[in-house]
Amino acid sequence: MKQVLRVDEAKQAILQRLTPIADIERVELRAALGRVLAEDIVSPIDVPQHDNSAMDGYALRAQDIGSVAETGEIALRVVGEAFAGRPYAGMLGAGECVLITTGAVLPAGCDCVVPQELVSSASREVIQVAPGIVKAGANCRRAGEDLRAGSIALSAGKVLRPADVGLLASLGIAAVAVMRRLRVAFFSTGDELRSLGQDLEPGCVYDSNRTTLHAMLSRLGVEAIDLGVVRDDPAALQAALERACVEADAVVTSGGVSVGAADYTREVMARMGEVEFWKIAMRPGRPMAFGRVNALGNGAWLFGLPGNPVAVMVSFYLIARDALLHLAGARGAALPLLRIPCRGTLRKKPGRTEFQRGVLVHDGEGSSGVRAFDEQGSGILRSMSEANCIIVLEHDRGDVADGENVGVILFDGLV
Ligand code: AMP
Ligand code: MG
Repeated sequence: MKQVLRVDEAKQAILQRLTPIADIERVELRAALGRVLAEDIVSPIDVPQHDNSAMDGYALRAQDIGSVAETGEIALRVVGEAFAGRPYAGMLGAGECVLITTGAVLPAGCDCVVPQELVSSASREVIQVAPGIVKAGANCRRAGEDLRAGSIALSAGKVLRPADVGLLASLGIAAVAVMRRLRVAFFSTGDELRSLGQDLEPGCVYDSNRTTLHAMLSRLGVEAIDLGVVRDDPAALQAALERACVEADAVVTSGGVSVGAADYTREVMARMGEVEFWKIAMRPGRPMAFGRVNALGNGAWLFGLPGNPVAVMVSFYLIARDALLHLAGARGAALPLLRIPCRGTLRKKPGRTEFQRGVLVHDGEGSSGVRAFDEQGSGILRSMSEANCIIVLEHDRGDVADGENVGVILFDGLV
């Protein structure tokens, strides 16, 4: 392995080694949100099941109302009503129409719906419409236009979102097979770390990374297993990794992988499995360890992230996230990268990928831009808290001029 890896090389190297978990369980729809679908879902029915009206109005035969070339009003006899859930049983004849509401099944014989507001006059018995006011097919929804029976509604590997569980419900499916939750252990390392509730002696810091990691893992939908703070001590590290092997599929650690700090980490990890220590051409988040550790007949994938609070988040989202989702069986869950004009200039050295904290700005004319924070230090967690996106400056890119497009990953999406 090369001394310094590009971000995409590191991601590739990780994905190549990982084997997704295979265990499947069945859950009811309400418990399926955020879970990874484990089976292709083939639609058992046409959705909608019948041709139906898209509007409130009158269902009729387009041929009965002529074309726009004609003059004068056309009268049609109202022969019945079709409501959602209560269809009209008869067959429409020449010069007839049926009062219809949105979603009601189209009566046999008719081929269009004139919306209420386009009808010139209406009584219980008769309506008047202008010639050619609508064409055949107007305001009708066709059977199967949402989904055809026998077609794939959702593919295995999809992380289920609100629309997906709704779609499953629309097919009458009450329970689905999902991957079991990935189990991910996590711990922080460092003699300087103090847990919440402890006194902060001189030179110590509160362990924020464990809280951040717990939050990020929870959002990812995995089972997060907290292994606490591990002292800078080989025996403690070994014990924590052993527990991770037994209890989890993967373990995410923070701290202790930078040069100098890494010496005993390397030694312990080398003894327990195959772990590589990388320098990644990225900022923040240069050092990282990845590999597999084994103990007591069990193994776990190891993601050794840097200790700096921003670096741990950036490495988690930009490197570990996709790998963990892949392990969990998810497909196509990569974060969308938008291209948005940069407001202001940015300094950037070619030869590494930079992830800067940014905020989206909206100007008066309805266009958006992105502004980077001045403070981009990897220890400044506040910048991450105030940001709402990450600006991605690609490996080969140099300085960014005002107005140039940059890659942006939003923190929050609608789903
Ligand atoms: P390390 O990667 O262990 O050399 O840590 C780099 C920097 O991140 C040091 O300033 C640490 O104090 C800080 N740091 C490491 N782990 C944590 C943590 N869990 N919470 C907050 N800061 C941390
Ligand atoms: Mg440390």
